[in-house]
Amino acid sequence: MKIETLCLHSSNERHEYGCLTTPIYQASTFVHAGVEDESKYSYSRLANPTRAHLEELVKKLEDGEHCFAFSSGMAAITTAIKLVKPPAHIIASDDLYGGSIRLFINDALSYGYEFDFIDTSDLDLLKSKIRKDTKAIYIETPSNPLMHVSDIKKISKIAKDNNLLFFVDNTFLTPYYQKPILLGADVVIHSGTKFLGGHNDALAGFVVVKDKKLGEALAYLYKTVGACLSPFDSFLIERGIKTLPIRMDRISENARKVAIWLRNNPKVNKVYYAGFEDNKDYNVSIKQSTGFGGMISFEVKKSEYVSQILRNVKVFQYAESLGGVESLITFPKKQTHADVKKEILEAKGINDRFLRISVGIENVEDLIEDLRQAFEDEI
Ligand SMILES: *Cc1c(COP(=O)(O)O)cnc(C)c1O
Repeated sequence: MKIETLCLHSSNERHEYGCLTTPIYQASTFVHAGVEDESKYSYSRLANPTRAHLEELVKKLEDGEHCFAFSSGMAAITTAIKLVKPPAHIIASDDLYGGSIRLFINDALSYGYEFDFIDTSDLDLLKSKIRKDTKAIYIETPSNPLMHVSDIKKISKIAKDNNLLFFVDNTFLTPYYQKPILLGADVVIHSGTKFLGGHNDALAGFVVVKDKKLGEALAYLYKTVGACLSPFDSFLIERGIKTLPIRMDRISENARKVAIWLRNNPKVNKVYYAGFEDNKDYNVSIKQSTGFGGMISFEVKKSEYVSQILRNVKVFQYAESLGGVESLITFPKKQTHADVKKEILEAKGINDRFLRISVGIENVEDLIEDLRQAFEDEI
């Protein structure tokens, strides 16, 4: 079954009364008929039928064998990283979602992890960082917000040769464009809040694995940590996924046009977009993914333009998040990456002239016109 169909028809299960959509089983607990009754559901922290239906769907989309739906992307990451037994050294992309950096830098140290943050698109550098106590590699590709692309297949080979657990946060491209498990990743992570849910109305996270042992370890962590997705939010995310392919198509088409427009804008210094052919990682991108998604970052020439643009936009909304149907514009230094040390941000170019946009499904002419008028109004 092709992915567009799978998003709508992931199981042949017939719901009660022939209900076409997945019913919301708003229950914390399930009744048993007697001691011999080992029915599938007992308590919703462990499993819930609405959530199970969604997990089955995301599992199939990612070509995994085990999927767990969490109450947020950060809940998924916080739980999944526990698959790595401390003390451990972990190599991670230096350009990660700000919340992941916060978790890894501030909290993980006290749990016995030591992180090396590097540009994981540089495979020689990656290999040189592997130590005796290295146990895992953790990447985002394309990365957030600099859009570095790391070669999943090649990194998975390095991981296998060195017996390392390989995590890929696949939030930006989703399985519609990129399937890390097929490329050799061990653990796929999602913020379901973003493109999977797609409507800026619910938080969610996912962890998908193929290996049975990892699946069992995660099942234990899942029920123990308890950061599970509610039945209602499971319903919302499943509803969102039904339109994932057509949303991603439109988002990518729009993003390409917006990226080109930005690149031709004399007030813009640099545009970070995975779909430009002269990107150093372009060949890796087209080898491992079938689309470039909707994320663009750019640096304007003067810092004054930032406040001007954020004040003037009318269609783009100045808000922290991404992946929804509405186009958003974000100021990473102040918002998503506010907890990352200033020197680190500056060194990477995430400065007070740096903006990130998540392109939505609006008419692209309206989006470009909105940016045009926002750039134009001089202060
Ligand atoms: C948003 C995001 C997260 C965190 O997800 P939440 O649902 O906000 O907790 C993790 N990784 C990436 C790439 C994200 O964009």
